[in-house]
Amino acid sequence: MVVMKFGGTSVADRAAVERLVSIVRAARQVAIQPEAMDWRGPVVVVSALGGATDRLLGVAAEAGAGDIEGAIENLRALRARHLEVAGVITKPADRAEVEAFIGNEFNELERIVGALGVLREVSPRWLDTVAAQGEILSSRIVAAALASHGLGAAWIDARQAIVTDDEFTSAAPLIPETTAALARVVDPVLADRRVPVIGGFVGATREGVTTTLGRGGSDYSAAIIGACLGASEIQIWTDVDGMLTSDPRIVKDVHVVPHLSFAEASELAYFGAKVLHPATIQPAVGQNIPVRILNSRRPEDSTGTLITRDRPPTGHPLTAVAAKKGVTVVDITSTRMLMAHGFLRRIFEAFETHKTSVDVVTTSEVSVSVTIDDSRRLPAIARALAEVAEVTHEEHMAIVCAVGEGLQTDSSFVSELLATVKGVPIRLVSQAGTRRNITLVIREVDLAQTLNRVHERFFTTVHHAANKQ
Ligand code: ADP
Ligand code: ASP
Ligand code: MG
Repeated sequence: MVVMKFGGTSVADRAAVERLVSIVRAARQVAIQPEAMDWRGPVVVVSALGGATDRLLGVAAEAGAGDIEGAIENLRALRARHLEVAGVITKPADRAEVEAFIGNEFNELERIVGALGVLREVSPRWLDTVAAQGEILSSRIVAAALASHGLGAAWIDARQAIVTDDEFTSAAPLIPETTAALARVVDPVLADRRVPVIGGFVGATREGVTTTLGRGGSDYSAAIIGACLGASEIQIWTDVDGMLTSDPRIVKDVHVVPHLSFAEASELAYFGAKVLHPATIQPAVGQNIPVRILNSRRPEDSTGTLITRDRPPTGHPLTAVAAKKGVTVVDITSTRMLMAHGFLRRIFEAFETHKTSVDVVTTSEVSVSVTIDDSRRLPAIARALAEVAEVTHEEHMAIVCAVGEGLQTDSSFVSELLATVKGVPIRLVSQAGTRRNITLVIREVDLAQTLNRVHERFFTTVHHAANKQ
C-alpha cells in the first residue's frame, strides 16, 4: 500500500484538488489490478491549503496582541477560501455537510480567538489548537471531494491517529501508541477498500490535547503513517519535479536528481532543501520504505526523485547543494578550562537543557563554534556557561551544504569547492566523518552569489562534460 502526501500547493485551490483526485484515482486503479500485490490504499495525507497555516498563526499572533477584530477579519477570509475550495465537492448533500463542518470549525475558532484576545496571551498549546485547523479542514474537504468523485474515501481525524508527546509546536510521535491508533482507525477503512484521508502535521497527546509536529511536518506525518502501516512506498507530491540540484528560489538552472540515498536526502533536508521535512526519512529508513518526490502539477511528465537505502553510482561526486538562511553562529571560548575533560559535555548540556538544536560544530584548541536556527534561548545558554566560557554570537549567517555519496572517494573535491568560493568570507567549514557532506557557513548576504557559483561549477552541462573527459 502506498502513502501519498499532498503539500499546501497541491491542495491550494479547486483546480489543485481536482488534480489530486485524478492522481489518487490512478493510484487506486493500480491498487485494484488483479496482479497487484496489495489491493489496499492508497492512504492520502494532506497539508493545509497553501498559506493557510501562516494565516492561522498570524491570526493567533493578532489575538495575542489584543487585535481581536483583525484576527476575526482574517478568519472570515480564510473561512470564505475554504468554502470556495469545498465547491469542488460535486454531491450537494456531501457539500452541505462539509460546509456545515467548515462553519462550525470557524465559529469555534472565532470563540477561541476572542478569548485569547482578551487574555492577550497565546500559549504554545493554544497555538497548536489554532494551527491544526488548517489540516483538519483541508483533509475533510479532500475526503469529501474524493468520495463525491466516485472514490470510496473516508476522513480520518489526525487527532485520533497520531499520538505524540506534549512538546507543543514541535511534538514527537509516540510510535507504539500511534501504531495502535492507526490500526484502530485506518485499518478498518482499508479493509473496507476505501481510501483513508488524514491531515498531516497534526496529532494529539495521550490525553487527547491537539499538538503539531512543527512547520512542514506533513511530510513527517506521511512517513510516520507509512512506517506504522508498513507501506510499500511513501510519495511526497509537491510543486517541483523532485529533489533539485539546488534551491530553485536561489539558483536558476537547477535540474532533478533522479535517485538519492536515504543518507543524502536526510542531509539535504536537514540543511535546507525545504521539499522534504528533515525528519521524513528517519521512519522510512527503519523499515526500508522507498520515498518518492513527485510533481502534482505534472503527474504524467515527471518521474520525480526516488529515495532508497542505496543508489547506483553516477560518476559525479556531488549530488546536490542545499542552503539555509537565518542561521546564528555561536562562539564559545573557554575562559579557564581550555579543552579540559568535560568541557564539551557541559556545552552540549547547556544547549540540550534549553532545547536548542545545534547543526554545524567546529572546534579549535580554546573554542567551540556551533550554528543554531533558533536563538531565542541564547541568553539563557550564555548564562549557563558563564562560569567556564565566554559566549558571543553572530546572526544573519547561512549554511551551504554540498552533499554526495561520491564525495567519499573524491580527494580533490574540497579544494575545488574552496577554490570556487574564493573571495567569499567563510566563517566555518566542516566535513563529517562519513564524508558525505561538506558544509560552509557564510554570511547571508553572500549566499545567492556563492550558491550560484558552486552550482555553476559542479552542475552545468559544460562542467559535467569536462569532468567526464
Ligand atoms: P509542500 O507545500 O508541497 O510541502 P514546500 O514548499 O514545503 O512544498 O517544499 C517545496 C519547495 O521546496 C519548492 O517549491 C522549492 O522552492 C523548495 N526547495 C528548496 N530546496 C529545494 C531542492 N533542493 N529541491 C526541491 N525543492 C527545493
Ligand atoms: N501546513 C503545515 C505548514 O505549513 C505543515 C505542512 O504543510 O507540511 O507548516
Ligand atoms: Mg513542505
